[in-house]
Amino acid sequence: MRNCRDISALVSQGLDKKLSLPERFSVWLHVLMCTRCRNFKTQTQFIRKAARRYTDELQSRLDNKSN
Ligand SMILES: [Zn+2]
Repeated sequence: MRNCRDISALVSQGLDKKLSLPERFSVWLHVLMCTRCRNFKTQTQFIRKAARRYTDELQSRLDNKSN
C-alpha cells in the first residue's frame, strides 16, 4: 500500500504527464480512503486549472496586441 507521500508525489506528477494505469489506480484507491490526499488532489487540480485559464487569458491578450 502506498503512503500519503507517494500519493501526493503521484498527484503532482499527474499534472505534467499521464500516469500509468497502476499509478492512477493507486491514487484513486488511496483518495477513496484518505481525506487529506483527496483534498490535496482537489486543490492541486483546481490551482492547475486556474493557472491554465490565466495563461490562456494572458496569451490571448498578447495575440490581440500583435494584430
Ligand atoms: Zn493519503
